[in-house]
Amino acid sequence: MSTQRTVIVTGGNRGIGYAIAEEFVRLGHRVAVTARSGDGPAGTMTVRADVTDAASVDAAFTAVEAELGPVEVVVANAGITRDMLLMRMSDDDFSSVVDTNLTGSFRVVKRASKGMLKARYGRVVLISSVVGLYGGPGQANYSASKAGLVGFARSLTRELGARGITANVVAPGFIETDMTAELPEATQAEYKKSIPAGRFATPAEVAKVVAWIAGDDAGYISGAVIPVDGGLGMGH
Ligand code: NDP
Repeated sequence: MSTQRTVIVTGGNRGIGYAIAEEFVRLGHRVAVTARSGDGPAGTMTVRADVTDAASVDAAFTAVEAELGPVEVVVANAGITRDMLLMRMSDDDFSSVVDTNLTGSFRVVKRASKGMLKARYGRVVLISSVVGLYGGPGQANYSASKAGLVGFARSLTRELGARGITANVVAPGFIETDMTAELPEATQAEYKKSIPAGRFATPAEVAKVVAWIAGDDAGYISGAVIPVDGGLGMGH
């Protein structure tokens, strides 16, 4: 087993974040999740945080550090969609998605980097989406926010790489969570036709990859975009 680390997963009360937190617990790490409501899985510490609010992110990290020690692994997972055709997309539809998905990740990683720089060790994992590089009709806001995470991770890699910190992007395809359950049946069937694997993935299939890229064995991988999409986005 790799070294036990202190891990924070944002948005760990449901969906992919919940599964990621479960996987880190299974591997024996000290795990905290941030949630606006509800709780993380058994064995995790839950702290309240809204990633659109830097003060609440700071307070959450301070509480986790006091209880579990310096944060060594951060998974910026919290995210939203607000799909809308471009002509109907308001400024608020665009900026609220960017504020949560991209600027929210910036707030979380900036706070996490304090301790990582001191420790000269860190693992940053940003949860993007196949849509970030593939695009999606009605998802100009979401796709731009998720593509932004790639530039962010690569800049982090260049800036922090020599301090033992890696920053990688995991880009899931369609995963069975509340986010995809909202899609009409016909749309889901249509998407499945275009996925070489012919199915959506479980959150656990994403969680295993996140845990691996955040583990000791992946120390020489940084600035990478790792697809977990059944082949949907090949060519990224
Ligand atoms: P869910 O909608 O199931 O969960 C989203 C999570 O993000 C919740 O925990 C939610 O908290 C949290 N969250 C949203 N806004 C904020 C905020 N302002 N501050 C703090 N937490 C917030 O989504 P998924 O599990 O499906 O998605 C998780 C990540 O994976 C997202 O970044 C998403 O874009 C990405 N993704 C998902 C795919 C999919 O097919 N499901 C595909 C590709 C990427 P709360 O419960 O309080 O709302």
